[in-house]
Amino acid sequence: MKRYLVEPGEKIKLAKCDPNDIKAFGGDKEMGLKALQKLNGELQELQEVLYAEQKHKVLVVLQAMDTGGKDGAIRRVFEGVNPQGVKVASFKVPTDEELSHDFLWRVHKVTPAKGELVIFNRSHYEDVLVVRVHEYVPKPIWKKRYDRINEFEQLLAENGTTILKFFLHIDKDEQKKRLQARLDDPSKHWKFRLGDLEERKLWDQYQEAFEDVLNKTSTKSAPWIIVPANRKWYRDLVISTILVETLKGLNMKYPESEESLDGVVIE
Ligand code: AMP
Ligand code: MG
Repeated sequence: MKRYLVEPGEKIKLAKCDPNDIKAFGGDKEMGLKALQKLNGELQELQEVLYAEQKHKVLVVLQAMDTGGKDGAIRRVFEGVNPQGVKVASFKVPTDEELSHDFLWRVHKVTPAKGELVIFNRSHYEDVLVVRVHEYVPKPIWKKRYDRINEFEQLLAENGTTILKFFLHIDKDEQKKRLQARLDDPSKHWKFRLGDLEERKLWDQYQEAFEDVLNKTSTKSAPWIIVPANRKWYRDLVISTILVETLKGLNMKYPESEESLDGVVIE
């Protein structure tokens, strides 16, 4: 799994990252799904201790091209975790109020508190992705944001936040299939916007913008992981494995009772 981690300063070329890669677990879907189920149980337990201990904060950032699978990954990876202590923050087109503040204003206030795990479905990175591709702000402004983002994440990390950032990597053919599937299924029409087709035309510009994100903002305390995401089961497996490993590394413990419970009898 280490090979999916972007080293700080590493120069990533997305064209060289295989979105079809299924090497871990022998590339076997059956085994992968079994592993995924086991990891899900472990995650449920780890999240329970995280919540009980009220010490660490965990932030999971999900970014992808349209149809990259952010919603599916959230559904599958976090299946069965206790909704108490887990939150999803989705970042949409900013409101007028949000736009009248700095770009991190809406983000900072939904970062995790002690004991919480927060999943960002899109994030502050949109401000150097869609905003850059469409030139919603001029280059001199978005160019400075990579540094500001690194500082912001550093601040969160120094205050006890464990940060993992996952880029779900699909290719253009896979996007076509997934858009087509949405079009063909009336129950998925709510997810389909004609605007997605306009965005698709900007595929190369988006890939370039993502490369800059990966190259400039993968840090020791807030690393990017490039998740091969053409196969959904593998995508979920990679995210789960890295998340569970990271949470285990926090060595969390259920807290002792603050009172002495020795000899307590319940009548
Ligand atoms: P969805 O995730 O499909 O619900 O769509 C959310 C939309 O909000 C996407 O098209 C994003 O590009 C857009 N969005 C999110 N953050 C920003 C931002 N900071 N500026 C402009 N558009 C954004
Ligand atoms: Mg969408």
